[in-house]
Amino acid sequence: MVERPAHRLKAAEPCPFCGYLATRHFPLDGDEVKPGDVSICFNCTWPSIFDENRRLRRSTREERDHLAQDPRVRAVVIRLLSHHGRAPLLSKN
Ligand SMILES: [Zn+2]
Repeated sequence: MVERPAHRLKAAEPCPFCGYLATRHFPLDGDEVKPGDVSICFNCTWPSIFDENRRLRRSTREERDHLAQDPRVRAVVIRLLSHHGRAPLLSKN
C-alpha cells in the first residue's frame, strides 16, 4: 500500500461523531477532497462522508457496513487503533 501525504484541509472540519477537529485529510483516491470522500476520524476512528459542500456528515450504518469491507479503510482504522492502543469500538448510530 502506497502511503499518501496528508493534505491540509482548507477549513478544519469537526468529526460529526466526537467533535475532534481535523485539519488534515488522507484521500483514498486523488489529492483533493471531493464530495462523497470518506474521512476516518483520527480520534474516534468513525468514518464520515464529505458532502457537496465539503463538510463532514455522519456515515450511515449501511455506509459503515460497506466501508468495513474496504481493505484501505480497514488498514487506516487498524493503524489508528494501534496508535491509540485500544480495541475497535463496536456499534454506534
Ligand atoms: Zn471522531
